[in-house]
Amino acid sequence: MTLEDLNTQIYGCRKCRLWQGAKHAVPGEGATDATLVLVGQNPGREEDETGKPFVGRAGKFLNKILAENSISRQAIFITNIVKHVTPNNRKPLPDEIEACKPYLTTQLEIITPKTVVLMGKVAGQASRIEGINYIETVHPSAAMRFTKMRKRFVEDFKQF
Ligand code: URA
Repeated sequence: MTLEDLNTQIYGCRKCRLWQGAKHAVPGEGATDATLVLVGQNPGREEDETGKPFVGRAGKFLNKILAENSISRQAIFITNIVKHVTPNNRKPLPDEIEACKPYLTTQLEIITPKTVVLMGKVAGQASRIEGINYIETVHPSAAMRFTKMRKRFVEDFKQF
């Protein structure tokens, strides 16, 4: 299985209700041999429009933090635990997370990164694969809004 094969499955996914309200599934993007993978919650409106992860406000903030740490977006892989936008950007429901989780697991089995950063509590529910180092931090949207969370987010990205 390649990431392209998996993307085809994700584009056609009907395992939960979310596809019905989405323009595009957003499987994620980046280097197939990335040593670092970042995982968010679910695509927002702009990600749904473009089919690309983290291109909206949270994405711009994330880009800034990556740049400050000399991390190239092209060298890493960025995705979400849920691959479709949610109605009014609500939190994905437990059955939606469960239905989507295996895609992330397969992505990580293909990429075999050294480190996975789970951004926010929803991403924190990802299944763990032995041999991968998982780091849990706050979601960039929260880091943008709250000073304490921004400090934690900035600190957590200094280790790469
Ligand atoms: N927030 C997320 O969790 N993921 C995105 O792709 C964009 C915003």
